[in-house]
Amino acid sequence: MEPKYKRVLLKLSGEALAGDGHVGIDYDNTVLSICRSIKECVDLGVEVAIVVGGGNFWRGRSSGSMDRTRADHMGMLATVINALALCDALESMGVDVRVQTAIAMTSVAEPYIRNRAVRHLEKGRVVIFGCGVGSPFFSTDTASSLRAAEINADIILKATLVDGVYDKDPHKYDDAVRYEELSFSEMLAKDLAVMDLTAATMCKDNHIPVMVFSLEDPHNIVRAVCGEDVGTIVKE
Ligand code: UDP
Repeated sequence: MEPKYKRVLLKLSGEALAGDGHVGIDYDNTVLSICRSIKECVDLGVEVAIVVGGGNFWRGRSSGSMDRTRADHMGMLATVINALALCDALESMGVDVRVQTAIAMTSVAEPYIRNRAVRHLEKGRVVIFGCGVGSPFFSTDTASSLRAAEINADIILKATLVDGVYDKDPHKYDDAVRYEELSFSEMLAKDLAVMDLTAATMCKDNHIPVMVFSLEDPHNIVRAVCGEDVGTIVKE
């Protein structure tokens, strides 16, 4: 297989690491199989940066009456747990990997330094970004678009539980139609729930395409990197 992209930003939701349980981490099956596909991409010569979510442990916006800022701090810490699990799995396969966090915790991971992250990628190391953008009221989708812009990624690969973007909810409507390609303007106008508005606007303004695809088959990551039609591509 020939890679189409040189440098990709892979967005993994926290839920993607949880397996059927939807909470916590299913390391032996789910995490290891996702990481095998990431290793394949690295072996193809693709530079891989990862932003991981934390929804399998905690989401600030679902924290009831808790102070939102504190709840978001907890959410950001949850992303670090996931980042360390991915790091461990990749390392066990012999992949060079670094975790960088937007909130400094230097005995656990490197602090986020853009130039250093780029240098790691150039050396063939996978870089996993934890803590989102490092501020409350943001999401890891927004972190994906920000980091993708900062490191000049060719594309964001957004691995989800659905195999692309539909005109309506495919779980509710049998006649829902999947888009092969979509513009950001169309996505925003039709309010299609691909990513939050802040993330979508950043991608649109910075001309970063997003491929939305399902992680049900983790090998889709390799197919997406090779430019195969595995989901919906959102671009200008
Ligand atoms: N979060 C945050 N700032 C960020 C990224 C994440 O405060 O820049 C917090 C927020 O509480 C969020 C949680 O971390 O709910 C987990 O991230 P997200 O919901 O994006 O994870 P996912 O749904 O992708 O698993």
